[in-house]
Amino acid sequence: MAARVIDGNAIAGRVREELAARVRRLRERSGVVPGLAVLLAGDDPASHVYVRNKQRACAQVGIASFRYDLPATVTTAELVDTIHALNGRDDVHGVLVQLPLPPQVGMRQVLESIEVAKDVDGFHLYNVGGLVVGEPVFPPCTPYGVLELLAHEGIGIAGRNVVVVGASNIVGKPLGLMMMHGDATVSICHAKTRDLAQFTRLAEILVVAAGVPGLVTAEMVQTGAVVIDVGINRVPGSSRVVGDVDFDGVRQKASYITPVPGGVGPMTVTMLLKNTVTSAERSCLRSGALKVPRWA
Ligand code: NAD
Repeated sequence: MAARVIDGNAIAGRVREELAARVRRLRERSGVVPGLAVLLAGDDPASHVYVRNKQRACAQVGIASFRYDLPATVTTAELVDTIHALNGRDDVHGVLVQLPLPPQVGMRQVLESIEVAKDVDGFHLYNVGGLVVGEPVFPPCTPYGVLELLAHEGIGIAGRNVVVVGASNIVGKPLGLMMMHGDATVSICHAKTRDLAQFTRLAEILVVAAGVPGLVTAEMVQTGAVVIDVGINRVPGSSRVVGDVDFDGVRQKASYITPVPGGVGPMTVTMLLKNTVTSAERSCLRSGALKVPRWA
């Protein structure tokens, strides 16, 4: 039987409706509008598209977005100064630096200059440490989106064999930790893993985030597995994108599968919105602008 295809657009739409309601409630009770500042350095066309999408998504749920376009020649100090100014603003509850940064910029120094309470991307080292001990300030958006997709489909992770293909700092590693905190038994594979298939076949839940089109084929997947494809790979010479999983082959064997596009992608931006709304709510509670956390 063919797998159920998880509709990331539909789930993201539902989460965004809930977020729009939280934003309305916050505005009515405290007069505060959640605000997200997005810093973009240089002319990378893909980054420009991502930032535009983030701003559009903010507008959809009622979050104010503030965009800072900086030249490709920007220095670390200039970026840090801009971030320090945003840290001090009451109308900015999230600060996001679009990656990658130009090569002369010290990425760690820039990310560490974001106030932890406004680090809605979850990349500050304090946040990364919080994730390790199971107390993140803000969960990083892509892994958070994967967990939200599973939760919406009613797929439990406790006690399940989870295999994550990809060990990056933004997807594979944080996702492995979050799965572990959800009591899954986790294996993380990477480019130097020998015989990838021997691991992927163990997975009841298989998450693939390697950036290699068609890496996972049907014979690498156990019957009935849940397969989440995080990969986004542009097909050369076209505007089409494909994932890391051979969708047509694997869907004949899996119980659930995410498509690319329309699976994890829409969830990543949605979780950024969620972190920003949460940040604004926390800020109002801290300042006393809001006394009754009815959404808690
Ligand atoms: P990355 O390049 O930083 O890391 C890739 C990881 O995959 C590394 O750990 C590497 O060792 C591993 N890997 C590479 N080739 C492999 C192979 N043949 N077998 C096993 N492991 C292999 O990439 P990233 O930033 O983590 O992104 C991974 C993919 O996910 C990319 O396609 C990216 O575009 C996509 N992505 C999607 C979203 C989303 O919102 N859907 C968000 C972030 C990244």
